[in-house]
Amino acid sequence: MKIALIAHDKKKDDIVQFSVAYEQILAEHELFATGTTGLRIMEATDLTITRFRSGPLGGDQQIGAMIAVNDMDLVLFFRDPLTAQPHEPDISALMRLCDVYQVPLATNMGTAEVLLKGLQEGFIDWRLLAERRSASQTK
Ligand code: PGA
Repeated sequence: MKIALIAHDKKKDDIVQFSVAYEQILAEHELFATGTTGLRIMEATDLTITRFRSGPLGGDQQIGAMIAVNDMDLVLFFRDPLTAQPHEPDISALMRLCDVYQVPLATNMGTAEVLLKGLQEGFIDWRLLAERRSASQTK
Protein backbone atom coordinates (compact mmCIF):
# COMPACT_ATOMS: atom_id res chain seq x y z
CA MET A 1 0.00 0.00 0.00
CA LYS A 2 1.11 3.53 -0.67
CA ILE A 3 0.55 5.78 2.34
CA ALA A 4 0.92 9.58 2.47
CA LEU A 5 1.79 11.34 5.74
CA ILE A 6 1.20 15.05 6.24
CA ALA A 7 1.08 17.17 9.41
CA HIS A 8 0.63 20.86 9.96
CA ASP A 9 3.27 22.48 12.14
CA LYS A 10 1.41 22.25 15.44
CA LYS A 11 0.63 18.58 14.74
CA LYS A 12 4.14 17.50 13.81
CA ASP A 13 5.02 16.23 17.28
CA ASP A 14 1.81 14.16 17.17
CA ILE A 15 2.61 12.55 13.84
CA VAL A 16 6.16 11.78 14.98
CA GLN A 17 4.83 10.14 18.14
CA PHE A 18 2.24 8.27 16.08
CA SER A 19 4.85 7.07 13.58
CA VAL A 20 7.10 5.83 16.37
CA ALA A 21 4.17 3.95 17.93
CA TYR A 22 3.09 2.41 14.60
CA GLU A 23 6.52 2.08 13.01
CA GLN A 24 6.14 -1.68 12.59
CA ILE A 25 2.95 -1.35 10.58
CA LEU A 26 4.14 1.64 8.58
CA ALA A 27 7.38 -0.16 7.68
CA GLU A 28 5.38 -2.72 5.70
CA HIS A 29 4.17 -0.03 3.28
CA GLU A 30 5.53 2.44 0.78
CA LEU A 31 5.59 5.82 2.48
CA PHE A 32 5.35 9.35 1.10
CA ALA A 33 5.22 12.67 2.93
CA THR A 34 5.38 16.41 2.57
CA GLY A 35 8.90 17.76 3.12
CA THR A 36 9.18 18.69 6.77
CA THR A 37 6.79 16.02 8.01
CA GLY A 38 8.81 13.33 6.23
CA LEU A 39 12.08 14.66 7.59
CA ARG A 40 10.81 14.76 11.16
CA ILE A 41 9.49 11.19 10.95
CA MET A 42 12.70 9.86 9.40
CA GLU A 43 14.77 11.52 12.12
CA ALA A 44 12.72 9.76 14.80
CA THR A 45 12.33 6.32 13.17
CA ASP A 46 14.06 3.92 10.79
CA LEU A 47 11.33 4.43 8.19
CA THR A 48 12.20 5.27 4.60
CA ILE A 49 9.97 7.97 3.17
CA THR A 50 9.80 9.57 -0.25
CA ARG A 51 9.59 13.27 0.52
CA PHE A 52 7.83 15.81 -1.62
CA ARG A 53 7.93 19.60 -1.37
CA SER A 54 6.87 21.22 1.83
CA GLY A 55 3.08 21.61 1.97
CA PRO A 56 2.96 25.38 1.38
CA LEU A 57 5.37 24.95 -1.55
CA GLY A 58 3.28 22.36 -3.39
CA GLY A 59 3.72 19.14 -1.43
CA ASP A 60 0.00 18.65 -0.93
CA GLN A 61 -0.54 19.05 -4.65
CA GLN A 62 2.16 16.50 -5.42
CA ILE A 63 0.34 13.99 -3.24
CA GLY A 64 -2.93 15.04 -4.89
CA ALA A 65 -1.41 14.30 -8.28
CA MET A 66 -0.69 10.72 -7.17
CA ILE A 67 -4.27 10.35 -5.95
CA ALA A 68 -5.56 11.59 -9.32
CA VAL A 69 -3.81 8.73 -11.10
CA ASN A 70 -4.94 6.17 -8.51
CA ASP A 71 -1.41 5.81 -7.23
CA MET A 72 -2.05 6.52 -3.52
CA ASP A 73 -3.99 4.19 -1.23
CA LEU A 74 -4.26 5.99 2.11
CA VAL A 75 -3.71 9.52 3.41
CA LEU A 76 -2.91 10.33 7.04
CA PHE A 77 -3.24 14.09 7.36
CA PHE A 78 -2.86 15.53 10.85
CA ARG A 79 -4.57 18.88 10.32
CA ASP A 80 -4.44 21.86 12.62
CA PRO A 81 -8.00 23.19 12.69
CA LEU A 82 -7.08 26.17 14.88
CA THR A 83 -4.50 27.90 12.69
CA ALA A 84 -5.03 29.54 9.30
CA GLN A 85 -2.83 27.94 6.64
CA PRO A 86 -1.46 29.93 3.70
CA HIS A 87 -2.05 26.96 1.40
CA GLU A 88 -5.68 26.30 2.39
CA PRO A 89 -6.78 25.90 -1.26
CA ASP A 90 -4.21 23.12 -1.72
CA ILE A 91 -5.43 21.38 1.43
CA SER A 92 -9.06 21.52 0.27
CA ALA A 93 -8.03 20.23 -3.14
CA LEU A 94 -6.19 17.28 -1.61
CA MET A 95 -9.17 16.35 0.56
CA ARG A 96 -11.52 16.75 -2.39
CA LEU A 97 -9.44 14.37 -4.51
CA CYS A 98 -9.51 11.79 -1.72
CA ASP A 99 -13.30 11.92 -1.97
CA VAL A 100 -13.30 11.83 -5.77
CA TYR A 101 -11.14 8.69 -5.79
CA GLN A 102 -12.48 7.21 -2.56
CA VAL A 103 -9.09 7.19 -0.91
CA PRO A 104 -9.34 6.78 2.88
CA LEU A 105 -8.33 10.04 4.52
CA ALA A 106 -7.66 10.48 8.24
CA THR A 107 -7.56 14.10 9.35
CA ASN A 108 -6.69 13.39 12.98
CA MET A 109 -4.75 10.88 15.04
CA GLY A 110 -7.83 8.95 16.19
CA THR A 111 -8.94 8.13 12.67
CA ALA A 112 -5.38 7.46 11.58
CA GLU A 113 -5.12 4.83 14.31
CA VAL A 114 -8.34 3.14 13.22
CA LEU A 115 -7.23 3.07 9.58
CA LEU A 116 -3.80 1.65 10.33
CA LYS A 117 -5.22 -1.01 12.61
CA GLY A 118 -7.81 -1.87 9.96
CA LEU A 119 -5.08 -2.12 7.39
CA GLN A 120 -3.04 -4.39 9.63
CA GLU A 121 -6.00 -6.69 10.23
CA GLY A 122 -6.85 -6.73 6.54
CA PHE A 123 -10.32 -5.24 7.13
CA ILE A 124 -10.02 -2.58 4.51
CA ASP A 125 -10.79 -3.51 0.93
CA TRP A 126 -11.90 -0.18 -0.50
CA ARG A 127 -9.74 -0.65 -3.59
CA LEU A 128 -11.79 -3.68 -4.56
CA LEU A 129 -15.08 -1.91 -3.83
CA ALA A 130 -14.05 1.19 -5.78
CA GLU A 131 -13.00 -0.93 -8.76
CA ARG A 132 -16.32 -2.74 -8.76
CA ARG A 133 -18.17 0.56 -8.58
CA SER A 134 -16.28 2.18 -11.43
CA ALA A 135 -16.68 -0.97 -13.53
CA SER A 136 -20.46 -0.87 -13.04
CA GLN A 137 -20.56 2.86 -13.87
CA THR A 138 -18.85 2.36 -17.22
CA LYS A 139 -21.54 -0.09 -18.33
P1 PGA B 1 5.41 20.12 5.69
O1 PGA B 1 4.07 20.42 4.96
O2 PGA B 1 5.40 18.70 6.07
O3 PGA B 1 6.50 20.40 4.68
O4 PGA B 1 5.49 21.06 6.85
C1 PGA B 1 2.86 20.11 5.58
C2 PGA B 1 1.90 21.23 5.50
O5 PGA B 1 2.06 22.20 6.24
O6 PGA B 1 0.95 21.17 4.69
